[in-house]
Amino acid sequence: MYRQPVLKNRRTLLERADKFISDVYFTDCNLRGRLYGDSCPLESLASFLSSKRITFTEAFQQTFAPHKVGDTFGPTWWTCWFKVTLTIPESWRGKEVHLLWESDGEAMVWRDEQPVQGLTKEGEKTSYILSDCLRDEEPHSVTLYVEMACNGLFGAGQGSMIAAPDPNRKFSVQKAELVVFNRDVRELLTDFEMLIDIVKELGEGEQRGYQALFTVNEMVNLCDPSDPGSFSKAHSLAHAFFSQRNGDSQHTAHAMGHCHIDSAWLWPYEETIRKCGRSWVTVIRLMEKNPDFVFTCSQAQQFQWVKSWYPGLFSQIQHYVKKGRFIPVGGTWVEMDGNLPSGESMVRQFLEGQRFFNHEFGIHCKEFWLPDTFGYSAQLPQIMQGSGISNFLTQKLSWNLVNTFPHNTFFWEGLDGSKVLTHFPPGNSYIMEGKVEELMNTVKNNKDKGRANHSAVLFGFGDGGGGPTQLMLDRLHQVQDTDGLPKVQTSSPDQLFSQLQADSALLCTWTGELFLELHNGTYTTQAQIKRGNRQCEALLHDVEIASSLALCRNRTFQYPVEKLQELWRLLLLNQFHDVIPGSCIEMVVEDALRYYEDIRRDGAALLHEAFGALGSKGNSTGVFNSLPWERHEVIQIQDGAGTPGLALVRVPSIGLTPVKDTQPVAPVSVTSQADGTILMENGILQTVVNKDGTLASLYLINANREAVSDSCHGNQFVMFDDVPLYWDAWDVMDYHLQTRKPVLEVVQPPHVVSSGGLRGSVSFTLRISDKSTIKQEIVMDAMCPYIKFNTEVEWAESHKFLKVEFPVQVRSPNATYEIQFGHLQRPTHRNTSWDWARFEVWGHKWADLSEHNFGVALLNDCKYGYSVHKNTMTLSLLRAPKAPDVNADMGTHHFTYAVMPHTGSFQDASVIQCGYNLNFPLKSIQCTADTEPWSAFSVSTAAVILETIKQAEDRKGALVVRLYESHGSSVTATLCTTLPVREAWHCDFLERQQYPTQPARITSEGVTLNFSPFQIVSLLLIL
Ligand SMILES: [Zn+2]
Repeated sequence: MYRQPVLKNRRTLLERADKFISDVYFTDCNLRGRLYGDSCPLESLASFLSSKRITFTEAFQQTFAPHKVGDTFGPTWWTCWFKVTLTIPESWRGKEVHLLWESDGEAMVWRDEQPVQGLTKEGEKTSYILSDCLRDEEPHSVTLYVEMACNGLFGAGQGSMIAAPDPNRKFSVQKAELVVFNRDVRELLTDFEMLIDIVKELGEGEQRGYQALFTVNEMVNLCDPSDPGSFSKAHSLAHAFFSQRNGDSQHTAHAMGHCHIDSAWLWPYEETIRKCGRSWVTVIRLMEKNPDFVFTCSQAQQFQWVKSWYPGLFSQIQHYVKKGRFIPVGGTWVEMDGNLPSGESMVRQFLEGQRFFNHEFGIHCKEFWLPDTFGYSAQLPQIMQGSGISNFLTQKLSWNLVNTFPHNTFFWEGLDGSKVLTHFPPGNSYIMEGKVEELMNTVKNNKDKGRANHSAVLFGFGDGGGGPTQLMLDRLHQVQDTDGLPKVQTSSPDQLFSQLQADSALLCTWTGELFLELHNGTYTTQAQIKRGNRQCEALLHDVEIASSLALCRNRTFQYPVEKLQELWRLLLLNQFHDVIPGSCIEMVVEDALRYYEDIRRDGAALLHEAFGALGSKGNSTGVFNSLPWERHEVIQIQDGAGTPGLALVRVPSIGLTPVKDTQPVAPVSVTSQADGTILMENGILQTVVNKDGTLASLYLINANREAVSDSCHGNQFVMFDDVPLYWDAWDVMDYHLQTRKPVLEVVQPPHVVSSGGLRGSVSFTLRISDKSTIKQEIVMDAMCPYIKFNTEVEWAESHKFLKVEFPVQVRSPNATYEIQFGHLQRPTHRNTSWDWARFEVWGHKWADLSEHNFGVALLNDCKYGYSVHKNTMTLSLLRAPKAPDVNADMGTHHFTYAVMPHTGSFQDASVIQCGYNLNFPLKSIQCTADTEPWSAFSVSTAAVILETIKQAEDRKGALVVRLYESHGSSVTATLCTTLPVREAWHCDFLERQQYPTQPARITSEGVTLNFSPFQIVSLLLIL
């Protein structure tokens, strides 16, 4: 085959081939230099600048001024619209003609008033094909518009990608001209690139690598760049190499086009809409040219955006969805954070997502798709299964900083035992380019060799959008079945998972959460977003319950279906995996906080309407309880004259009552003591507040137990230096723990604010630094088993972390944390690397440290970061990262946490209920004076929590209720209701009655239900 003797010098042969396709060296005589033929300037180029993102119709009516290539414009986030007129020379007949466009902003080409292609230099899309093969009858004179966003694929970070955006960046178009594109050169370049990569990747240990080396060397011999007639011989040689087939046992790479578009991150939501447009229209162009090309695409929200902003493009997408080539995946509204959203929020992600895909495309997603998030709740398998999903694709755990996750393909078993088939693409990326290295890694990194013979290769630029390119498709096409490389098959998630399922006998199982050992700062960063999320979750919970009850009590009441969907969708959008974690730029934070304001305002109005319908608009004061247990609490009320006061009220479960003040068994007393400390008591707890606001003692009276550890103080604020290795807003590193400094400086020592009766409270102020202070009110209510700490922090720090500690007299190897619809345990020791890597963890409304018969719970109303090491329970409060938002968390913060010592287990002590009580305050309601106390629902056992009551989707006259087992026990419960329920049916999270249809058992007591530990049950109640 090789006519010339070839010396044994691998290095020169390889570098010779490299230089033959170099875009830096020898382009005067090498193949790369021949990629473009003749060029021709544009007829004219004109532009106009807009500070806003406007529609095409608005844009093309503007006055365009002449524009020269190289002119600068901006600033960041503006849009420059270009009018491009061009005439293709007659002499280019038969040639492939491109508009070459190189600019540092992301652009969209418009032709005949329609978006036709995205142009992004960073996404390797710099040319728009005007003609594949110019014919005389084609229009030679064309007018195009180019809409150029003044931001790059990754925003506009000042100096580095994740730095805060430079608001004054200038942009330019560096190249805008017509060129002849030599397709044959491009194809031959691809042959060369793939072969050279095979030589490099297979190294010196494989004979196949040498075969590639000699092939590519001979191709250089045969190919004369100045003579296209010589190309076919070189190409045939490459083809012969690529056609040498694999054996049957070779691994199969399932290639799927993909384009990870963060719904907001280093750019605002509004720009994401255009990113979707640019990326997806380009996908459609590729589909027209490549009949095998399949593209997977997640996030219903993004489809919704494209539907309303680019209706023409959306109908093209619908066309390819029908053909099974543009594949909606994931089944969720957005690719949400996997840790922080509540259980109900996660259910709604699937409900909104699956319903949207079904409505628009007649599609039901069978896989959950969440490549990029910072951990995965142990309840996700059950939530997926309940949403008709049994497969899961992600890969982020490959970012673990400490331990290597042991599987790529495995069964993931959740908290309740639900299992989903899970795949982490072993290439360890959801942004692949079809290169040899990635294909090799897909085989090499696969930790389930011999167990799973199939893997996903998701190719296409991503994070900032971009998506696949023709080059990526060409690369993968060359090596479909080439000896030495895995087989490459154009595929779909269905095909991949069917193969994995069919051959799953040897797969391992991972039980419990998938904890990411990185980005643990995201449980705390951007505290206002976290607070917005928690409060709006609670608000929508209350609105749905009040509206459902109003519907049953008042025939004229209209359940606010559309408005609730709109508010839920805003809440779900902000749960995107760079928004709720706080890893976004300031503009996104502003948008997110505005959305929370919208939810608060409109939610409050909905609640007001529902309360009006419930309370018959009387003028006596009543109280509404949205939780499924009777509550006996102190609330703030106003008397007839509008004077605020307190009342101790007893409110039935999910119901209301007029305010009838009851007397506490024991009133609260607050006493200043001679040594300057303050003693607070309510008959349940007794605490001593030190002169610095810490607790010297926290005593559980009936149990005769001290909760604060000997010679330690509870409620100790501590500051840490918080300088991560790179990912500022994301990461808190293990070494921050070495920099602990207690906050000791007292500005105003504790003094009594309320001296007792129904409520006692003590207030004090501490100084953190010149710029930051903590003001706190310690509140003890009559009958309340926990002490609340209402906290206000003025925060103006840089790279510091504020936490509060409670060293307690409890010894246990595990602490318990609330998660979605349940709880789980994590170690309090640091035995192994898997234990200490969880030095900062997430939890929802509470964490608990218990030994037999005694424990302490730490509750919160808007925090998510916790750690429990040995006997010290710590709640993470505020961080101060400077990238990507230079002002992250600066300003005033309000939050409340609470501490609750208890006897027995946390289950028996009602810690779970107390966590709810703190987060769902009783609400005042107007009612008539003769209103009888009324309860709509109650549950016979404390183990089962009725979490949600809403009107059924698409079905008036029916409610959906959702309950879960919260203790981790098998239990039978009766759901009692005073509502006129005629029938009850089990349904899934998509509210589909389960088949075979299964009515729930209704007795005179109510609906009887059996639960296994942490099981979630949804019922359709027909009224
Ligand atoms: Zn992402």
